[in-house]
Amino acid sequence: MEATFTQRQNLLKKTLQTLGKQYKAPARGAMPSIDMLELIMWTSISDNPFNPNVKRAFKKLVNEYVDWNEVRITSTNELGELLTGCKLEASHAINIKNAAQEIFHRENRLSLDFLSPKRPADVRKYIGEMKSIPEAQANTIMILITDSADVPPIAAVRRVAQRIGIVFENSTDNAVRLVFKKTLQKIQGFSAFYLICQHAYALCKETGPRCSACDLNKICEFGKEKISPRK
Ligand code: SF4
Repeated sequence: MEATFTQRQNLLKKTLQTLGKQYKAPARGAMPSIDMLELIMWTSISDNPFNPNVKRAFKKLVNEYVDWNEVRITSTNELGELLTGCKLEASHAINIKNAAQEIFHRENRLSLDFLSPKRPADVRKYIGEMKSIPEAQANTIMILITDSADVPPIAAVRRVAQRIGIVFENSTDNAVRLVFKKTLQKIQGFSAFYLICQHAYALCKETGPRCSACDLNKICEFGKEKISPRK
């Protein structure tokens, strides 16, 4: 029988308690303090902003290019190679370039120093108007700078939540967001997002999840089936 909404909320709470012991979510203040241009670039590198390889790729972009304008005019192939060298998807090179191009054309320069994370409404409006920033990336940026329970339904979040049984395979993005929004307090959104992204990277990988090493394997539908398949 399909789990009820309340049962799935309880599963989400247990999941976050368990992951909290395993990964220890940082306070938002522990996030690297980067400006809005850098935050857009960071979230263009990969859907999962807490994948440690994103930090590596970001550092390479900062250290190996004169500035973001040089990144903007670099070929997609070259940026793609940098990403694959950091074990990330080359396809995101185009996201980096498109975001840089759009900002450059809007502002006649590659700077967003007038936009402050301390004014989230301005940020939401600006990135909401950017054609190169999809909704999921905009949601990711907002949860990184504000107190929000609106966890972005990026692939990593969907994968972990679906395997555990918190959402269904055919749940819409809005249905995924709803279970988080109705379960979490605003201030819990950032840490929930962090914990699930960490877990998606560390153990609950797209292929070959390491269920036997996972503390969730007694409550996770996928993990239970993988470890002790029903006959
Ligand atoms: S038991 Fe396996 S599928 Fe479930 S959350 Fe853990 S790693 Fe992912």
